Amino acid sequence: MDKISGKVVVITGASSGIGEATARLLASRGAKVVLAARRVERLKTIVEEILQSGQHAAYTAMDVTNRESVEQGKNAALTQFGRIDVWINNAGLMPLSYLDKLHVEEWERMVDVNIKGVLFGMAAALPVMMEQQSGHIINISSVAGHKVGMGGAVYSGTKFAVRAITEGLRQEVSGRYHIRATIISPGLVETELLTTITDQDALTALSARVPGQPLRSQSIAEAIAYAIEQPESVSVNEIIIRPTEQV
Ligand code: NDP
Repeated sequence: MDKISGKVVVITGASSGIGEATARLLASRGAKVVLAARRVERLKTIVEEILQSGQHAAYTAMDVTNRESVEQGKNAALTQFGRIDVWINNAGLMPLSYLDKLHVEEWERMVDVNIKGVLFGMAAALPVMMEQQSGHIINISSVAGHKVGMGGAVYSGTKFAVRAITEGLRQEVSGRYHIRATIISPGLVETELLTTITDQDALTALSARVPGQPLRSQSIAEAIAYAIEQPESVSVNEIIIRPTEQV
């Protein structure tokens, strides 16, 4: 049997891009997926399509910057499916900009969604997984969590933070509670994320770093599935995936 089959997987930021592709792939492999995001109409449509294929899915409204909202989403997942095997902190923003443009509100939003959102997700999932004495937390970082490009200082800062937090999580919880921790670090993926960039100079600098085709969300979903499908004794700590031409 597929090792993903029957697992309950919560995915934040599942209304588009990587999160949506991951929800669809894991559901097709027998997981019970819970899609979380703010745009519930989109979640509803995706979940209806998954259910029509005879697979298992539910959705919950969630703003990851609001701890109460994340806790409510967690409770909705538990009510629906009774346990949580995998929690994927995927929700994120990437409004790249040069620091001297002082897009301070965008800096704040990135810190709130990309860092605090991941922490709130972990705070929701950890007690459930500690009680279960099993679980898997997957945090989406980026190639920008390994190196800083022009216009990417704050975004990179948030994604470096995601890698640091996930590594700390791995060291602290894997032995004591049998909880696996995985970092997924994609290069450029063709999603709606690019539409959050308002600084043209930053967009130009990004295009220079990735001259060829970006990745498809499906490739990231497959990397996530690989980490989940390993035996419980195998913890995939990080996967980095770049488009072939990305510098
Ligand atoms: P999308 O813009 O397609 O998806 C982002 C998702 O995050 C949406 O579903 C959005 O849902 C959700 N989101 C944003 N803010 C919130 C919030 N406050 N609460 C809950 N959900 C929120 O982009 P991607 O699929 O590309 O991004 C997914 C992750 O992948 C991000 O963490 C991103 O940093 C990372 N990544 C992406 C890369 C790329 O090139 N695309 C490269 C490397 C990493 P809604 O608006 O409905 O709430």
